[in-house]
Amino acid sequence: MTETKYIFVTGGVVSSLGKGIVAASLGKLLQARGYKVTIQKFDPYINIDPGTLNPYEHGECYVTDDGHEADLDLGHYERFLNIATSRANNITTGRIYQNVIRKERKGDYLGKTVQVVPHITDEIKRNVKLLGQKKQFDFVITEIGGTVGDIESLPYLESVRQLKWELGQNCICIHLTYVPYIAAAGEVKTKPTQHSVKQLQEVGIQPDILVLRTEHELSQDIIRKVALFCNVSPDSVIQSMDVPTIYEVPLVLAKQGMDETLLRKVGLEVGTKPEMKQWHEFLQMKYNASEVVNIALVGKYVELQDAYKSIDESLLQAAIYNNRKLNLVSIHSEKVTEENVAELLHGMDGVVIAPGFGSRGIEGKFIALKYTREHDIPTLGICLGMQCMVIEFARNVLGYKEAHTTEISPNTAYKVIDLMEEQKTITDMGGSMRLGGYDCILKKGSKLAEAYGKSFIHERHRHRFEFNSQYREDFEKNGMICVGENPDTGLVEAVEIPALRWYIGVQFHPEYNSTVVNPNPLFLSFIKEAIKK
Ligand code: GLN
Repeated sequence: MTETKYIFVTGGVVSSLGKGIVAASLGKLLQARGYKVTIQKFDPYINIDPGTLNPYEHGECYVTDDGHEADLDLGHYERFLNIATSRANNITTGRIYQNVIRKERKGDYLGKTVQVVPHITDEIKRNVKLLGQKKQFDFVITEIGGTVGDIESLPYLESVRQLKWELGQNCICIHLTYVPYIAAAGEVKTKPTQHSVKQLQEVGIQPDILVLRTEHELSQDIIRKVALFCNVSPDSVIQSMDVPTIYEVPLVLAKQGMDETLLRKVGLEVGTKPEMKQWHEFLQMKYNASEVVNIALVGKYVELQDAYKSIDESLLQAAIYNNRKLNLVSIHSEKVTEENVAELLHGMDGVVIAPGFGSRGIEGKFIALKYTREHDIPTLGICLGMQCMVIEFARNVLGYKEAHTTEISPNTAYKVIDLMEEQKTITDMGGSMRLGGYDCILKKGSKLAEAYGKSFIHERHRHRFEFNSQYREDFEKNGMICVGENPDTGLVEAVEIPALRWYIGVQFHPEYNSTVVNPNPLFLSFIKEAIKK
């Protein structure tokens, strides 16, 4: 393909409609037709990245291989498209302004008044086009965070307006809206969609395709009505009904020919419908699975739907590949006590101890870990979860009652988890953790090496604290073995108890590296062991 096509996905009426899923699904359909696709997300907030936001504000913080703390939608992009994203795939208003102000100080705009239009909008446009520059992608899909009508989204929409004008047929705007069902009237209502499209038109954007999120199937009359009021043809109005799994969405869109409509609009040949064999097989496995695997996730944000998104999805994928239905039981770590732990973990085939920061709920993690270790229940500790495994073992097996991480107890006598050397001089909190992909050598013969089926892996990190190697001998003599090590620094990246069925803690985050067609081996192995009766 000669020219990169740019697709924008905007949202209206309400937030949380799943723009990220729609963007990823469309990307999947184009990819299945042989096109090279990437997706980026623009977030209209002032933070430089979501790394400093807590999960109540923003759900999970995703991490790219190049070490960027990113919006969780990048996780969807990677899981759907099986591609790596990077720093360039997630831009915030904070970063746009930071770049413009840096240029201003450098003197790049000497003599000029620096303004939202054209300087901020130019910087937004530069970032949109950055991914298309080297002609490595046929399609660059850009999801604009927020909802049309938000004050903070305006510069983004103005940039989209300009780009549509400049790029002509190579630029498409897809607008996602909501069609509510009013139970008392027994009707779906299209007025919010009409208003939302009007709002877009007011800023000079005519959407090319509308995607209507709905809980009730929309009749052709409704589709035609929306088309008529919103200046689009009926085949450009796609409905996105609630489906049992997000992985159905590409098929729902394909069934209505959304990819074909889009290809026609950008002047490309439609060609034959792609097979998407592996995708269909994955869904078939999901529906065929009848036996259940019960997995508990112990964390302090379990009441939030998106706080552990990548872990949830990795477990789901691993369960499906093991022909099991996943029953994921959320256990609030603050609520786990010596008295109720047996009851809470009753019937669980495996337990995951979540990553995290700070002291809230950490004692509950220790109690859960003591229980799974003593009852030999397969257990996976991720990041803080791994650190908790180390601390629990130190306290209850090595007898170091005060053992802790210096993150929580800086003056403890037993600093079994301690601040990394490189972190000691860091003062700024943003983007300063040990972030992104690092190599790791796995100990031959370990369960971890067996799980991965190789002795050299590359996984992503997000932490400041680490296993304190001073204690390594103590742990290993008593049955907890360091089974993963960074080849350059010698940092301990993983521990396991070989005497148990499957008790592995990893300092890295395997959940950032698990996709529909390429599930992460660690989760696969964990579920495989969990379902052994
Ligand atoms: N708080 C721990 C650290 O900074 C673990 C971080 C995490 O779980 N992502 O090392």
